[in-house]
Amino acid sequence: MSIQGFHKLSTVDYPKNPCSVLFHGGCNFKCPYCHNRSLVNEESPPLNREDLLFQLRRRKKYIKHICISGGEPTLDKALFNDIQLLKNEGFSIKLDTNGSNAKVLKDLIDHQLIDYIAMDIKTSMDQYHRVSNCSNHTGKIKESIALIKESGINYEFRTTFVKGVINWSDLEGVKEMIKGSMRFRIQQGRIDENVLNSHYPMEQYSIEEMNQISDFFTSSAEEIIKSYK
Ligand code: SF4
Repeated sequence: MSIQGFHKLSTVDYPKNPCSVLFHGGCNFKCPYCHNRSLVNEESPPLNREDLLFQLRRRKKYIKHICISGGEPTLDKALFNDIQLLKNEGFSIKLDTNGSNAKVLKDLIDHQLIDYIAMDIKTSMDQYHRVSNCSNHTGKIKESIALIKESGINYEFRTTFVKGVINWSDLEGVKEMIKGSMRFRIQQGRIDENVLNSHYPMEQYSIEEMNQISDFFTSSAEEIIKSYK
């Protein structure tokens, strides 16, 4: 596992703040609508960590927030030390995760190394294996959800809605999972030739359908964010 991508500046990956983004290669899930194929398949060479730190330090006056994304960053054994180093340098850290690695999440939370967590909720629990293409991890997903809700850290759960992947019959299960949470982000999945599995029978929800989905989740979390137009 390694860091395989770096965006110097993003205005959408850290709530209310400009940030830099570090992308970790590799993922234990294979969501059919994923647009990060090269990261999931670890197709790029690792970036030099020293060089990245140098670049982040150089811009620290302007960018104090870092989003750690992927792929799935919690699979990287160097993640804890990396984040500790960045926190010691004074950066605020947001972690994007699929929630499959509750132990790493707990370590980071216990050591107060994370300032914001964004965890994907793929679908209802009984359909998780079908969307993630990975088995035996629903216990960890439940554990991560509970950890995050009780962490006292700023967080959001977020779901990418794609017809055929997450259907109307799955919505009640998702609502149950996010019940009582701080924030829920509703995203419209984009289906084009760049998805991870273009043979999967899926299609994009229309804006009208996305609005119906949003209506379904009204009041399910303290804040509902519609990330689509
Ligand atoms: S969308 Fe799925 S496959 Fe892609 S990086 Fe996220 S968890 Fe992994």
